[in-house]
Amino acid sequence: MSPTPQAIVDKFGRPVRDLRISVIDKCNFRCPYCMPAEIFGADYNFLNKDELLTDDEIVRLATLFAQLGVTKFRLTGGEPLIRPNLPALVARLAQIPGIEDLALTTNAYYLPKQAQALKEAGLHRLTISLDSLDNEVFQVLNGRRATVERVLQGLEAAEAAGFTNMKINCVVKKGVNDHTLVDLARYFKDSGHIVRYIEYMDVGNLNGWKLDDVVTAEEILAMIDAEMPLEPVPPNYEGEVANRYRYLDGEGEIGIIASVTKPFCGDCTRARLSSAGEYYTCLFAHKGTDLRAPLRAGASDDEMLQRIGGVWQRRTDRYSELRTSFTRLPAKGAEMYRLGG
Ligand code: SAM
Ligand code: SF4
Ligand code: SF4
Repeated sequence: MSPTPQAIVDKFGRPVRDLRISVIDKCNFRCPYCMPAEIFGADYNFLNKDELLTDDEIVRLATLFAQLGVTKFRLTGGEPLIRPNLPALVARLAQIPGIEDLALTTNAYYLPKQAQALKEAGLHRLTISLDSLDNEVFQVLNGRRATVERVLQGLEAAEAAGFTNMKINCVVKKGVNDHTLVDLARYFKDSGHIVRYIEYMDVGNLNGWKLDDVVTAEEILAMIDAEMPLEPVPPNYEGEVANRYRYLDGEGEIGIIASVTKPFCGDCTRARLSSAGEYYTCLFAHKGTDLRAPLRAGASDDEMLQRIGGVWQRRTDRYSELRTSFTRLPAKGAEMYRLGG
């Protein structure tokens, strides 16, 4: 029998509700805002097999997080579909008591092969990343690893497998894909899927982020609204990261994630587990807590719960809210491909 959940809160009264699990650090794309090709070359040292958490370890940790109040898991990476036998892991995570939502974020490249198996394994929801419908622009943003056509094939495979109401993530970088945002909105307007524009973020230290590269949520909204008028919609639930807008003329909506210009730390209930078993309480955290070592040294569930819960209870993170007050951005710890976004 599973023990009674012990819901916990951090120093600002925020519970832990969501766990983002990075299942692998490798990726088949080289998006310059995440894993720039000049840094992540052929000789880059990704984690080896022994360093990655095993399925058993991920399931055990996920179960402990659920006992502390987590009700949602999001699988991410790196590219999660590269992890061998992902559907088997999904099937086990779907069975964990208390889990109401099990989602996955992917670049869609391997969806044609895997969508059906993921659906059958019990995955609830899919988010697909696609930064532009213009192939030239898209290729700049994925390091020339894939075509738009390939991603759309992945999306079709997901639809055929029964995934509905998908999210399409688009990171917006000034002067790179901002002239193609409206096309993307138009393409998905009546599709039942929701494009979510994400302000380009300064995660990690490798993407050379500058505030000048950010197209603000306000600018994104104005561009789309000028062609297809929009109105704001209330959030689906407390702590939803995207601001929602629906089209005035009928079906469809978009989301805008204003992580830079309108931070949402006050509602942030997200914990992150890297593929090496480091636990982070903020996307911008300087340092994670190693959970793999105690797990492999034979720590009991109670000891692990103390460790995980204690870190959350001491949490004071609100990096995005403080960002604008920094005169110089502080050095950050982990990169997006390790934390999974
Ligand atoms: N490889 C998968 C993918 O791209 O969908 C999952 C991992 S990826 C790190 C998760 C999400 O983070 C993607 O939608 C990606 O576009 C977004 N992302 C990565 N780097 C970002 C950055 N610097 N700013 C904003 N979003 C970013
Ligand atoms: Fe890979 Fe996703 Fe990062 Fe692009 S954003 S490099 S697809 S992990
Ligand atoms: Fe949460 Fe950290 Fe992002 Fe704020 S900056 S919303 S605390 S992950």
